[in-house]
Amino acid sequence: MLEFSEEQRLIQREVRRICDDFDDEYWRKHDRNAEYPMDFVQALGEHGWLGTVIPEEYNGAGLDPLEAAIILEEISASGAGFNGSMACHGAMFIPRSVLNYGSEEMKEKLLPKLATGEKLLQCFALTEPNAGFDSTSITTTAERDGDTYVINGQKTWCSRFHASDYMVLVARTTPKEEVAKKTQGMSLFLIDIEDAKEQGAVDATEIEKNIRAAVPSYEIWFEDLEVPAENLIGEEGNGFYQVMDGLNEERVVIAAEAVGLARVAIDRGVQYGIEREVFDRQIGSNQAIQHPLADAYARMTAARNITYQAARAFKEGRDVGEAANIAAYMAREAASEAADAAVQTHGGYGVAVEYDVERFYREARLTRIAPISDEMILNYIGEHVLDLPRSY
Ligand SMILES: Cc1cc2nc3c(=O)[nH]c(=O)nc-3n(C[C@H](O)[C@H](O)[C@H](O)COP(=O)(O)OP(=O)(O)OC[C@H]3O[C@@H](n4cnc5c(N)ncnc54)[C@H](O)[C@@H]3O)c2cc1C
Repeated sequence: MLEFSEEQRLIQREVRRICDDFDDEYWRKHDRNAEYPMDFVQALGEHGWLGTVIPEEYNGAGLDPLEAAIILEEISASGAGFNGSMACHGAMFIPRSVLNYGSEEMKEKLLPKLATGEKLLQCFALTEPNAGFDSTSITTTAERDGDTYVINGQKTWCSRFHASDYMVLVARTTPKEEVAKKTQGMSLFLIDIEDAKEQGAVDATEIEKNIRAAVPSYEIWFEDLEVPAENLIGEEGNGFYQVMDGLNEERVVIAAEAVGLARVAIDRGVQYGIEREVFDRQIGSNQAIQHPLADAYARMTAARNITYQAARAFKEGRDVGEAANIAAYMAREAASEAADAAVQTHGGYGVAVEYDVERFYREARLTRIAPISDEMILNYIGEHVLDLPRSY
């Protein structure tokens, strides 16, 4: 069984203590009203958790994705679900491109503010309506003009745009038709959102959705946005590889969130199975109710083990691609089965908002679509682990 160190258990308890101030009704209300949980995010910031992966030399906690996974699993498992964990998870992996590739000047200016939560970098703009998962087909452009780049194009599904001071944007600096490999010619930029608004060069519309509604996602249009050349992150033309570099970390922490969702769904199912009596017996004494919960628990435990195995490999600098993708795949399956079992256990109340399991059920469905779909993960495993021919 998975064991955490004393320090990691302390992190777990500290985060749970913060979460205890935000009860089920808080999350129901924010989900119903599609209202961003800013006070929750601020509470995490005040306790330093938004700076989890920022190195100590920039006043951050200097921890690893493993600890970020522990924090996000605990938030999700507290009953907040993805409305809680995804309200803040960007702060724990989006700064990675700056950490790995940003200039020293950029790091010194930005990271101490992110470490304290004074400023937020938790918006990442890659997806475009006409490209979807085919990221190399993006058409947003960044053209060099003296000391600036001028950005034009459209992005979609950019989460937390309104609750972010900065955004990492992926744009083409060379058209796809003009590069030897389609993965070349893309670049990363740090965008100061306030500055973009002041220029009148950015326009955003929220996409109405009914899963994880408290964490909004936006369509964003850029028209002649001028960005200082020093905001280029890393090397011009290398952006695709720099993004890929951070993806495994994202897979691992989101897998941990899905494990947290599975945990809370199982807990609620078990609780109801014990309390509810029909035909003069506890419904949890019926195997038809008990087995799906036990099955979900076994799957959740296996998913949790592989998730932290991947997180440890990351910490130790080992190759993590296979474990991170399998973790993401298994965790989403565990979350889906757990939420389904919890809804079934609750019978009619499974769809009643006040029992929360319908919220977990909707959120579990999201894990199979975004940030990466089941199909794209299986494509990865087929091609990179099993050495099958590339299918697309
Ligand atoms: C709630 C939410 C938040 C998001 N947040 C962000 C964000 O902050 N920033 C950001 O950049 N993006 C974000 N995304 C986008 C997300 O990461 C996906 O990239 C995006 O949803 C995929 O694009 P699409 O919907 O156009 O799918 P498409 O590319 O059109 O795919 C549609 C379906 O076809 C399948 N498919 C496509 N090609 C293949 C193939 N070769 N083999 C097998 N199956 C295939 C896919 O798996 C999928 O099921 C978010 C999405 C959602 C839903």
